[in-house]
Amino acid sequence: MSISCFVCALALVASSASISPAQESARLAQDPAVKAALDAAKRNEPHFLDEQIRICEIPAPPFHEDARGRELERLFRQMGLQNVRIDKAGNVIGVRPGAAVHPNLLFQAHLDTVFPPETNVKVTREGDVLKGPGIGDDCRGLAMMLGVIQALNDAKVQTPGTITFVADTGEEGLGDLRGTKNLFNETLKGQIDKFVSVDGTGLGITNVGVGSYRYRATFKGPGGHSFGAFGMANPIQAMGRAIAKIDSFEVPSSPKTTFNVGRVGGGTSVNAIPFECWMEVDMRSSDKDSLETLHGKYNAAVQQAVEEENKRWNGRSPVSVDNALVGYRPAGITPADSPIVLAAIAVTKLFGAPGALREGSTDSNVPMNLGIPAVTIGSGGAGSGAHSLNETFNTKDSWLGTQRGLLLAVTLAR
Ligand SMILES: [Zn+2]
Repeated sequence: MSISCFVCALALVASSASISPAQESARLAQDPAVKAALDAAKRNEPHFLDEQIRICEIPAPPFHEDARGRELERLFRQMGLQNVRIDKAGNVIGVRPGAAVHPNLLFQAHLDTVFPPETNVKVTREGDVLKGPGIGDDCRGLAMMLGVIQALNDAKVQTPGTITFVADTGEEGLGDLRGTKNLFNETLKGQIDKFVSVDGTGLGITNVGVGSYRYRATFKGPGGHSFGAFGMANPIQAMGRAIAKIDSFEVPSSPKTTFNVGRVGGGTSVNAIPFECWMEVDMRSSDKDSLETLHGKYNAAVQQAVEEENKRWNGRSPVSVDNALVGYRPAGITPADSPIVLAAIAVTKLFGAPGALREGSTDSNVPMNLGIPAVTIGSGGAGSGAHSLNETFNTKDSWLGTQRGLLLAVTLAR
């Protein structure tokens, strides 16, 4: 290397180190190949709206995403992704190699819906509006992801880093992020440097992952006649003690930390000491430590309530509790001033949206909890009625969502 070349190489290193995410994304938007890909994304949008409808009409109830997953696997292969496979959690994985293996950006949308198997998943279309269960959340995310892959291919965009595309399982409800947990704990453990989840509609950015613990606690005892067997410990009264303790928890207001006893049930008759009752409890925070503290207090409250009830009745016919964890979503935050969030804001502003940040509970919770830079972005268009049978997706200018996702992916895969 000549001296002058060495100097220019140094200058390059210096400029790439000092360039901001905003400058980088603006520069990339003018790169000829990226520009061609952005044009392709807009041009291909009608096709991927048809694909969105077609994918949405393949049922994907909780824990049964396999049929929709096999179709995504077929499409990934057809689009030329490499090492296409389905892992043991049902995640469909395909790789678009870059010049180097790292940085490796994981870019994904979820397969599952909240709807049971018997749901009519037929999609109707009136003008700009598509209507059907799951049409926005997250069939739109899947279709947008496919649109990004196709546009990158059409324009032959080469990225310095690799993009791993995934259609994942178990994002919703009691699915408990099981697909993404499996990706980070097993299938792609240690291989992912950055993460983008495409979930829901619009052009929002989520950088705070609200975590949660959910429990179903069942209190049991022998039960008996309210008059004749008086003097026994009482499961409902034990549960009442637990609820009173929970109600008195002090929690921080910032970061917002919450608890709720959401459902209770049990007992058989007004004149019977019950043999069983149960409660369902939800606790949330975006702050790991606050959530763990609250979780510890909850477990202690349940145990103490049972001990106090048994002591109150001198240990006669004691009550026991089965405190079952039915949901856990890890908490985490990608700081607002981190490069990935600054890049997401800058890219979003290029498409005329404000780039405001939100909190949510999405697949990003998992990498956020591990300290891996992660954001969740909307997929464009406008949605309403998510998680209802009347869910709609308005396709007006939805290509902007595909273009934003593409430019963000290209900005991060370097
Ligand atoms: Zn979703």
